[in-house]
Amino acid sequence: MLISVYLLLFHLLTYNKAMKQITTISCKLKVKPELAKEIEKTLVKYANACQFVHENSDKKLTNNVAMQALMYDTVREKFQLSAQTTIHSIRRVCSNRKTSITNHFKKELTFSPTSVDYDSRTFSLDTKKWIVSLKLLSKRTKIELLIGNYQRGILKGSKSKSAVLTKRKDGSYYINIHINNIAPEPTDTDKVIGIDLGRTDIATTSSGESWSGKDITSKRNHYSRMRAVLQQKATKGTRSSRRRCRQLQKRLSGQERRFQKHINHEITTSLVRKAATKKAAIAIEDLTNIRARTNQQRRTKKERRLSNNWAFYQFRMLLTYKCVLNGVKLILVNPAYTSQTCHKCLHIHPTKGKSYRNGKNYHCNHCGWTGDADYNGAKNIAALGLTVNQPGGSWLSCEVSSSDFVPRQLTIWDMLEGYEKPAS
Ligand SMILES: [Zn+2]
Repeated sequence: MLISVYLLLFHLLTYNKAMKQITTISCKLKVKPELAKEIEKTLVKYANACQFVHENSDKKLTNNVAMQALMYDTVREKFQLSAQTTIHSIRRVCSNRKTSITNHFKKELTFSPTSVDYDSRTFSLDTKKWIVSLKLLSKRTKIELLIGNYQRGILKGSKSKSAVLTKRKDGSYYINIHINNIAPEPTDTDKVIGIDLGRTDIATTSSGESWSGKDITSKRNHYSRMRAVLQQKATKGTRSSRRRCRQLQKRLSGQERRFQKHINHEITTSLVRKAATKKAAIAIEDLTNIRARTNQQRRTKKERRLSNNWAFYQFRMLLTYKCVLNGVKLILVNPAYTSQTCHKCLHIHPTKGKSYRNGKNYHCNHCGWTGDADYNGAKNIAALGLTVNQPGGSWLSCEVSSSDFVPRQLTIWDMLEGYEKPAS
């Protein structure tokens, strides 16, 4: 049954070429102490059920249907969860195992009481009263949403069929509601904007724009100095001052992360908006599943840096989902030689291990072109992106097509799983 639904979905997606994009809307819940106890019990039971499934089944098993056949009755009886919640706990184990396998996680899976999955049978949203109704352990419970106009605007008139109840580190409860958007079909075009990601300049485009990473670097240095001072204080001083230092350290790391995300949002929004108005596609280097490819090709220093860096990972994620939502075609190109080749004459330095590139500068000894190295890279990326539309050029690059976006539970990040998540 499940398989056929998936096949049908897959078929519809590829046939219609209309992209389904899942957006997650995070809504804070108004929870009184009485209710918190009930939620807490549900979270714990759900996590225990997941843990039980994980520990009492073949660790290699990741198939929902097979796992359900094996475990459903036992779990249902042992944990007294509702039928739907039991199924979700089994699915959660399968999906976490898959993620763990594809990302080569070494750590053993554990399930902590921080979230529960819901679907249309166990969850509903009332957009008139702004209330969600959730199946908790004993009964269905109505909980008020504490949300602003932004969330209301998106939720109004949209159909949501799944959600995740979560508990945050600060002890507050949220419901992450998933919404299906039908994104416009990406426009076919012969214009391609190439984007080169780097350190000095976060992004440089083939049309000559660039976003400096100066702000980020200086902010990061500022934070790292603060952290060093705090670290010193946290090991000395009185007990209470040590505790205060630890709190401050935590807050700082949050601030730094939010600043980084803000910058990434700004750049990607601007890029996608420009591409959409110019009716152009965007090309970036394909850094997906690099770890799986390492046997075939040695990774360059740049590839290693970009793929191990959370900020760049986030950048690519944001860019991908904004492209999908705005009908901008995103093209991934092979990163080999994009920074070494001269975009004017397509020459590479003849001596192995040498390059015309020198830091931020590029000087081609063959045709004499001199200029910004990232701009040269972006030009090459754009040129490679253009070959996508030409026959025989597909070995150079692959297009992110609608069929790559298989709707799954959880957030947008999980959905775009082509990207390899760097270890945090
Ligand atoms: Zn040249």
